[in-house]
Amino acid sequence: MNNGNGNHEKTGGMDEFVLSGWEKKNNLLHLPPVMLETTGDRLEKIVRLLLQELGLDVNDQHFRDTPRRVARYYREFTQGQRARPEDILKTFQSTSSALITVSSIDFYSLCPHHLLPYGGKIHFCYVPNGRIVGISKIPRLVHALAARPVVQEDLVENIADAFMNVVNPLGCAVKAIAKHDCVAARGVKCPSAAMTTKAMRGIFQEKQFLCLQFEEAVAEGGTCVR
Ligand SMILES: [Zn+2]
Repeated sequence: MNNGNGNHEKTGGMDEFVLSGWEKKNNLLHLPPVMLETTGDRLEKIVRLLLQELGLDVNDQHFRDTPRRVARYYREFTQGQRARPEDILKTFQSTSSALITVSSIDFYSLCPHHLLPYGGKIHFCYVPNGRIVGISKIPRLVHALAARPVVQEDLVENIADAFMNVVNPLGCAVKAIAKHDCVAARGVKCPSAAMTTKAMRGIFQEKQFLCLQFEEAVAEGGTCVR
């Protein structure tokens, strides 16, 4: 039985083991019993099954700890599902009503179609409406919302909506430029292809000059050497 923590519980004798719904649904019953461990992390077990299904020797020195590493990687890359923007975006009072831009935020996310990484830069700006946020909170918001399987088109929308909901500025804009491993290393195999996505909210949907100021600030940010 699944004990609610993602692990299994023994229900009887030493070798008795109940498969989870996931395993039944995905027809893993045909696998030899030796592969169904009675202890340990279920995600690690799934990775071990994956390696075995691929015909790899899980006892080889290079694969021995791979299930643990891969399970940790996927947990790290999906922890953003539980992100709470209201806990990240601490605000301060301000009389500023000028464009504020934070550019060249490095980010990585996970393509939900292939579970492969994509990454690049995110540029962000907003016009305050009585409250500003600490500069480090914007990369933190980006990293939190990117740490999950999400298409790049939705990621910029999610960042913009989260910021609008918590900070309530006059408007904000988000631009992501990224390269996708699923485009580079498989399928079409086009490693040079980059995707740009944008999301505009509030005043940025009406005032073209603000969008141009955003682009200028992003270009200036690219020339900053320190
Ligand atoms: Zn993909």
